[in-house]
Amino acid sequence: MKSMKSSFSLALAALMLLLALPLAARAAAQPCACDTIVQLMVMGNYATPMYYADGDEQGRQAMLPMQFLMNERGESRLPITRKWEWEFDAAQDHRENPEYYFVFDYRVDQFENAQRLHEFVEAVCLATGHEKVAMTSTSQANSVMMTYLKEHGYGRARSLMFYNGSFQGTTFMGEALTDFQIGSLADFAEFLACTKRDSEMMAASMNLLTTLPGANRALRLPPANRLAEALAGRVIKHMPYMWTFFPAGYYEQVRDKLLVGPQYDYLRARLDKYHNEVQLHVPELLANAQKAGVKVAVVACYGVSAIPLTAKTDYQNDSLVDVAYSSVGATVAPIGQVLPPGDSPYRSPDGIIDAASCVLPDKTWFVKYKGHWWSDDVFREFQQWFIHSDGHPTVNSNPVYPQFMYVGDGELHALADEPERPPLPDTFVPAMAALLRVLAG
Ligand SMILES: [Zn+2]
Repeated sequence: MKSMKSSFSLALAALMLLLALPLAARAAAQPCACDTIVQLMVMGNYATPMYYADGDEQGRQAMLPMQFLMNERGESRLPITRKWEWEFDAAQDHRENPEYYFVFDYRVDQFENAQRLHEFVEAVCLATGHEKVAMTSTSQANSVMMTYLKEHGYGRARSLMFYNGSFQGTTFMGEALTDFQIGSLADFAEFLACTKRDSEMMAASMNLLTTLPGANRALRLPPANRLAEALAGRVIKHMPYMWTFFPAGYYEQVRDKLLVGPQYDYLRARLDKYHNEVQLHVPELLANAQKAGVKVAVVACYGVSAIPLTAKTDYQNDSLVDVAYSSVGATVAPIGQVLPPGDSPYRSPDGIIDAASCVLPDKTWFVKYKGHWWSDDVFREFQQWFIHSDGHPTVNSNPVYPQFMYVGDGELHALADEPERPPLPDTFVPAMAALLRVLAG
């Protein structure tokens, strides 16, 4: 009986192998010889739909917040997921459209996302007949990318561009979970002034708000710690992905505060695994990409205040991620200050940044006055130049893209050419000042 069963299994396996061989042979026999570079964008997008993954409700879109809540093991209470399997379009002709988009599940463990990314990359390579893809990752997708590189290596990467990576966490999130408070109106004004730097009127009015005597104190709103606790307790706590936002120095403190009791042993182990095996090794994983012969670009934005929901707002960032983290190691002056004089060749013209301490100082670009979120319009030409350039471009390869740039009128310019900030318009300002004096009593 046993031998009959095993010979049947053997025959079945042989049949499956025979059936599978022509498929594999066909895929392997058709490498594409075109000179198109296949591109893969790895992005976080909270607006992409989530769906029921199995059962009678398969394919039905999940809409309500409670459908996304996770259990104590950091897993979906309901079978809801991103639909990777029908997100990928095998019929896409890469010679007409070489860009493939992977959007990860913003709730789950990054090791799960990295596995999905691996499957996606393999599917793209199989469908296009290209062995390597140019990868760009943005924001928290960088932590998915780092986990992918750690687990699956650098073999599929033709190039890697890391944009505003929160792969080492962010001070904003660490502070929000330990010392959340609504900022003053002046803090918000400074935040908006930096964010809307391109608009002269907005900048002028917000500059005024920040300098008006008494406005800060008079308009300060009460702390809202209860809101933070509700968020942490109901949403953040059970979502493994959210935990990747906490940098070293905050992670253990927040974990020990929120995950108390044996019911969290499993989740803690999963979170520790990401923190200890990936997040703490980002510099090494980045350096290894270069050692593996992959061309690399790190892009870090700054000159925008942190979202004023924490007491600490004096660090240079892109509204969400510290530039010291997104650049993987830059030395940065606090907001409103410059670094002590020095002759580092990696010092920014505004004196705020010294990139000499970065893991890849020659492959790290900085963009001032650019908020956290990826904008195709601003970066497209730079990204495509990097992807299509020969060899390993550095910050000295192209005078159009020096190490330090700023965004003005929706385009990149050399920071060395930055004009003075525009003067305040002289009709609008007195009217705003009068209004604020009334408001401030
Ligand atoms: Zn091709």
